[in-house]
Amino acid sequence: MTVTDAVQTHWEASAALRQADPLVADLLSAEAERRADSVQLLAGENLVSPAVLAALGGPLVDKYAEGYPGHRHHTGCAPADTVEVLAVDRACQLFDAPHANVQPRSGTSAMLAAYAALLRPGDAVLALSLEHGGHLSAGSRSNFSGRWFDFVGYGVREDDGLIDLDQVRELAHRHRPKAIIAGGISYPRHWDWAAFREIADEVDAYLIASAAQTTGLVAAGAAPSPVPYADVTVAATHKLLRGPRGGLLLCTAELADRIDRAVFPFCQGGAAMNEVAGKAVALAEAATPEFAAYIGRAVDGARALAAALGESGARPMTGGTDTHLVTVDVSPLGLSGLEAERRCAAAGVMLGKCALPYDPAPPTEASGIRLGTGTAAAQGMGEEELGEIGRLVGRLLGDGTDGAVRSRIQELARAFAGRR
Ligand SMILES: *Cc1c(COP(=O)(O)O)cnc(C)c1O
Repeated sequence: MTVTDAVQTHWEASAALRQADPLVADLLSAEAERRADSVQLLAGENLVSPAVLAALGGPLVDKYAEGYPGHRHHTGCAPADTVEVLAVDRACQLFDAPHANVQPRSGTSAMLAAYAALLRPGDAVLALSLEHGGHLSAGSRSNFSGRWFDFVGYGVREDDGLIDLDQVRELAHRHRPKAIIAGGISYPRHWDWAAFREIADEVDAYLIASAAQTTGLVAAGAAPSPVPYADVTVAATHKLLRGPRGGLLLCTAELADRIDRAVFPFCQGGAAMNEVAGKAVALAEAATPEFAAYIGRAVDGARALAAALGESGARPMTGGTDTHLVTVDVSPLGLSGLEAERRCAAAGVMLGKCALPYDPAPPTEASGIRLGTGTAAAQGMGEEELGEIGRLVGRLLGDGTDGAVRSRIQELARAFAGRR
């Protein structure tokens, strides 16, 4: 398949757009071409299915439907109501959850709503520290979370990189937080939700699972579900779940009203009903055997990637992965995370630099890189291809000047481009 074919399949250039705004049409073509020509290993990215894409571009894009099904502030909401009820029912069924809210526009606004439902400004919250892989919505000073709540951070152990549950317990008893947050953006291992529940119960705190990164793994049964343990689970639909960019809240029956009121009208006005339709489609797709097979490729591929990078002399954090995420220390190869990111991007591999726990380097340089296999697995890559990509990345990080590596990467990218 040529790059042009791939671009054609990847993004059907709309005649109306090309005519009305050739500048934007050209930019979208350039983006499709950039993607077709490189391997995407950015941890939070994925590809929506053609059906999700169709729902996103469908007629609900124009519909105002403030409120909830049956209680809208706008007329003409019958189809929109049914779509939202479907999305909610599918979410409840897929995650075996008593209640779901499908309206949050992003993972971060879903976090905001979870806090709004459970906390008051000034409350203490215990969460994975940002330096150890917490998301900015769990206590960054530049985010509402760190400004409005009093965050205390736990971390991972320096020797094995695993969550230090003894420290979590000790901090919980010392600070008596109103809520404990379990979850993060770069931790490659499964979370022990039951242990967090136990600690939360000891200090009478709410447990919020910040599970945006791994939502698709949980859907496929490839990671333990936080839903039976957490009061509120904050999920995302655009990462491993392959749905529209957005958030998803799952909670207990008791908290259902508080969560709904926290999303609307506290945090948001009208929901994006085309996104809600796309979420409904993605949630049904996530219950299929094809989805389970894709998740299997993502996890097997991540293991192969981590093993290959380890053999090249980089150091996979925690020694490997249970998920689609791989975080590796590249400092043993004598380069920074920033340099590794640049070198890989120049050769057509898109991944992100990443500050590591106990990182001696400044955050702008960092000592690590973070990779995720969601997009590659959605395109059909598995253990074999991702293992090979790991070896190619290892060579890039070793001497960085290998022309043969660049052409092999391009060959792989083009072979899988346009698939979704
Ligand atoms: C991706 C992610 C978010 C934020 O999602 P956005 O949609 O970018 O706001 C929040 N928390 C965690 C743990 C995430 O992985």
